[in-house]
Amino acid sequence: MSLGRNRVVITGGAGFIGSHLCAKFLDHGWDVVAVDNFHTGQKRNILSLMKNPRFEIIRHDIVEPLRCEADLILNFACPASPVHYQSNPIWTLKTGVLGTMNMLGLAKRTKARILQASTSEVYGDPHEHPQKETYWGHVNPIGIRSCYDEGKRAAETLCFDYHRMHGVDIRVIRIFNTYGPHMAIDDGRVVSNFLVQAIRGEDLTIFGDGKQTRSFCYVDDLVDGIYRFAHTENVTGPINLGNDREFTMLQLAEMVLKKVGGKSKLRFMPLPSDDPKQRRPDLTLTKATLKGWSPKTELEQGIEKSVPYFKAVLSEIAALKSSF
Ligand code: NAD
Ligand code: UDP
Repeated sequence: MSLGRNRVVITGGAGFIGSHLCAKFLDHGWDVVAVDNFHTGQKRNILSLMKNPRFEIIRHDIVEPLRCEADLILNFACPASPVHYQSNPIWTLKTGVLGTMNMLGLAKRTKARILQASTSEVYGDPHEHPQKETYWGHVNPIGIRSCYDEGKRAAETLCFDYHRMHGVDIRVIRIFNTYGPHMAIDDGRVVSNFLVQAIRGEDLTIFGDGKQTRSFCYVDDLVDGIYRFAHTENVTGPINLGNDREFTMLQLAEMVLKKVGGKSKLRFMPLPSDDPKQRRPDLTLTKATLKGWSPKTELEQGIEKSVPYFKAVLSEIAALKSSF
């Protein structure tokens, strides 16, 4: 079945990545229904979309069944930062498993295509480097990250079982660390933490020795890849989506300090348990599948593009505080 251009349901639509997806699909002529329980999402992320008559928002928790019509479903609802997903781990697991099952049920009933936001966390603390889609991962099933990692792994299983049993038209992407405007400033992820700390003139918190690595993707590159994959026929994935340039947290801190300026220093703190030592996507399959796609934004450039957003949010907060 090829994809028309009608109604897309985007769960997690008020979140960081979800809100960029809403804007992208509206720009391409889709009717967009965002579904969000506002646990980590924010109204500010979708404020500019509200005046578009093709945009709707439903306050709903996907752990409960949802009845609506759809031609395409993008399942992005799930807290994504360790601080947020560990704040209520049982509910995080429910979102991963029951939430995805509900969205697959919706896809089955409406015959919609469904694209599932999976994650590089399915590879855990990887023994294979860089990570290819064929790698089964190295995940602790009982640790503090398990509610998220195992929820996302079970969600992938559900996608493939609904595909095999009921013929549901699935697309599965494994997203690697993504950053940019609309990230919550308090979500505890490394890029938002460093930017907020540097702008406020506070010391940058380095967990462990800072030599662990991640590969950071600017949100526009990710959203472009998602849009293309949603429109690619006769593939299920999983495919990796991200940027394959790898950095240590010390290199990232240095880059943020260079872009923001100021007098912040580094503050070393204990490494949280099960923190992966390294992470970098192998993009061979992705590039072969999404012909013409590759991440375009260098980390330095992406940080530079993100600074004005973080400065604007922080000054809004400061102005609000001083008005009391
Ligand atoms: P985010 O926290 O900004 O967005 C998640 C959104 O989902 C929020 O708006 C939140 O309110 C909503 N939500 C959470 N649970 C819900 C529920 N049960 N019902 C309805 N709404 C719910 O995070 P993000 O970074 O935009 O991540 C979006 C998706 O992408 C997540 O599924 C995440 O696992 C995946 N992902 C993100 C990254 C990344 O680096 N940002 C990496 C890998 C995977
Ligand atoms: N990290 C850090 N300082 C912070 C926040 C995170 O050094 O203030 C480290 C964290 O320990 C991890 C890396 O940065 O090694 C990426 O963390 P993040 O939470 O952004 O993503 P994830 O661990 O889920 O990839």
